[in-house]
Amino acid sequence: MTDYEAVIGLEVHAELLTESKIFCGCSAKFGAAPNENTCPLCLALPGVLPVLNRRVVEFAIKAGLATHCAIAPLSRWARKNYFYPDLPKGYQISQYELPICLDGRIDIEVDGTTRPVRLTRIHMEEDTGKNIHDQHGDASLVDYNRCGVPLLEIVSEPDLRTPAEAGAYLRKLRQILQYLEVCDGNMEEGSFRCDANISVRPRGTAAFGTKAEVKNMNSFRAVEKAIEHEIERQIDLVRHGEKVVQETRLWDPDREETRSMRSKESAHDYRYFPDPDLLPLEVSRQWIADVQATMPELPDARRARFASAYGLPAYDAEVLTARKDIADYFETAVRAGGSAKAVSNWVMGDILRIVRERKLDEALVIRDWPVSPAHLAEMLTLIDDDTISGKIAKTVFEQMVATGKAPAAIVAEQGLSQVSDSGAIEAAIAAVLDANADKVAEYRAGKDKLFGFFVGQVMKATQGKANPGKVNELLKQRLAE
Ligand SMILES: [Zn+2]
Repeated sequence: MTDYEAVIGLEVHAELLTESKIFCGCSAKFGAAPNENTCPLCLALPGVLPVLNRRVVEFAIKAGLATHCAIAPLSRWARKNYFYPDLPKGYQISQYELPICLDGRIDIEVDGTTRPVRLTRIHMEEDTGKNIHDQHGDASLVDYNRCGVPLLEIVSEPDLRTPAEAGAYLRKLRQILQYLEVCDGNMEEGSFRCDANISVRPRGTAAFGTKAEVKNMNSFRAVEKAIEHEIERQIDLVRHGEKVVQETRLWDPDREETRSMRSKESAHDYRYFPDPDLLPLEVSRQWIADVQATMPELPDARRARFASAYGLPAYDAEVLTARKDIADYFETAVRAGGSAKAVSNWVMGDILRIVRERKLDEALVIRDWPVSPAHLAEMLTLIDDDTISGKIAKTVFEQMVATGKAPAAIVAEQGLSQVSDSGAIEAAIAAVLDANADKVAEYRAGKDKLFGFFVGQVMKATQGKANPGKVNELLKQRLAE
């Protein structure tokens, strides 16, 4: 692979989190019964006219501002013509020669180096319906719920060179859209979809090779793998003096290879023309300024602030701001009284571990998580004021996850309070030392290592509830006598 390099450009389709569809009032929510969210307009019955959803434009402007795009004062709607059962009008309303956002940039970080990837454009369009094959014998069914759900198409320049860079770009783009709360970024449900344009050329040359487009990847891992395999396939062809064919290829996750789609589908002639039913879209400076005023803090800024304002290590700041919901959770717990580093440790340790174990990564909405930020802060206070030890806290935390109860209630119900009372600890120590007179003699004769054994025995005798600091202190006193 050293004498060739890959040239990769990505096209992302992001479904927008608007309540209603782009040109009608139907719900845009995922998961309804087939064809429940439809009306004469999105079913393309005769005599209907599209009415633009203002929120879609606002979401597009947000995405454009967050990725350093110029927002076009005038953009135009176009009809993209093709015939397929999931597209009842026979055309898709999209934008073509005048998109709403142009010339942007996303900064990606790979192997510790940050570099910009240019965006060609972001445009708005409507999604298509969904064909369902193989469920009713020979019949194919169509679900039009997704017809007219608003999409942003985000097109990068061919600035990416490796699968890792493509992965970093996609993660960063998804992170930005999630922070803006314009797209949930769920690749498995298809609300964040990626097509990759890939070509190879001898390293050091400027001309582009013939590109192939790869589709059908529904996870970040699949995107990286598909690109890797496609690069290898193309280099292999070129090395053997064969030609790369310009075509659309599908990623087959089971066989881990790309294969050619029917040529009929890759040979579209869309015959774009301006949509006569929709006026050109004018976006005033005032509208852009109004949207700008609603922009949230973006991932890079939040990461920098977490490091400086909370004194967190760079790694913590990175992990905690990877997702907006996790960053929000962290900040709410700190505001509820948890110390920043302690909250960070629990979020990065136990919480994200459980999230991973339950494979909640993609779908997790941390606000539905059973342990509220306030409860986490309350538990940290119980550790700080010596009500529970760090060790018992692990048990309490498991119970909090299982029941959603407040930590103080769990401690009270189950008698998990730490024993700091000297009398009780001294009694346990006395019992342990009496039962191990031989070891006490060895210790006093100089075998210091046995101290840990005595601590362990006392903790066991108190079911882990003795205050470890107190145990250490009182043991030392007794053994020195
Ligand atoms: Zn509708």
